[in-house]
Amino acid sequence: MPREKRIGNGRYARLSVVIPCYNEAEVLAHTHVRLSRVLDRLADFECEQIYVDDGSSDGTWDVITSLTQRSRSLRGVKLSRNFGHQSACLAGLREATGDAVVVIDADLQDPPELIPDMVALWRDGWSVVSARRRSRAGETFFKKLTAHVYYRLLNALSEQAIALDTGDFRLLDREVVAHLVSLPEKDLYLRGTVSWLGLPETSVSYDRDPRLAGKSKYDLRRMLELARRGLLTGSSAPLRLPTCLGATTLVGGAVVAAVTRDPRQLLRSGAYGAQALALGAIGEYLRVVHRQVRGRPDYVVAERVGAIYEVPAVEERVAL
Ligand code: UDP
Ligand code: MG
Repeated sequence: MPREKRIGNGRYARLSVVIPCYNEAEVLAHTHVRLSRVLDRLADFECEQIYVDDGSSDGTWDVITSLTQRSRSLRGVKLSRNFGHQSACLAGLREATGDAVVVIDADLQDPPELIPDMVALWRDGWSVVSARRRSRAGETFFKKLTAHVYYRLLNALSEQAIALDTGDFRLLDREVVAHLVSLPEKDLYLRGTVSWLGLPETSVSYDRDPRLAGKSKYDLRRMLELARRGLLTGSSAPLRLPTCLGATTLVGGAVVAAVTRDPRQLLRSGAYGAQALALGAIGEYLRVVHRQVRGRPDYVVAERVGAIYEVPAVEERVAL
């Protein structure tokens, strides 16, 4: 069990809520009302709402601008064009000043009423609190099926499993946000990278409502792009495929040749197996390049305990 977070000590804790918005003019005023009602109940917290306009072409930015005139705890950030949901979330995380930061969709599919439960778990010491979908109303069978299969496949291939049936509706401790915004990797896949950090993570379950208004912005093209990003950033396992295929073919050929006492079988599989293994060798080097380019740290420290001794600078050591 992680260590309990102490907040209060003469100051308020800060909570930031990041809301990525792409053509959400129809829902934003409702979202703001429902979110504010929840945040007002968090008496120990100073809350800020950060609306990120991800290059909308409807009146989203006008709505955000008028909302900022109503409340001082509200901020709008407009991206120059549509960069995609993950980039909009990252932009919001960079703007956030909270001790804890919640990322939530603008369309009220993620109920803001869950935030106090997430905050309570954060105070208990959890660094990441994911919202887990028990059910998903108003979504197509195709979307539910592909999501179900995809996340299981991704978890089988990834270095670190992602909490199943979650999206980006999450509470993140400041430490997690600091790691995320300082990573050099491009094409960030938030939910995968958050799990990779390995800091204490728990979840709350909820029933996902249909969108309040408007259409899903995740069309097939965007869904495929997100799926590609998740696989490519979270796993380099497919690069091992030629090695596995090549080795299997060679061993298989040798077995068949031994059983049939026909050495030509070995020759046939040998030609293919050797090619696959040569590709596999390139794959192994690419894995190294992939890791280097992604530039994640080799490890993440969770906690330190005991005396912290400062190592003297080289010149001082020479003088000693
Ligand atoms: N979104 C965004 N940029 C995009 C697509 C979506 O900021 O390019 C936002 C969108 O406004 C919403 C959230 O990401 O707040 C989730 O999108 P959506 O509800 O369309 O996806 P779904 O819930 O259908 O998967
Ligand atoms: Mg939605």
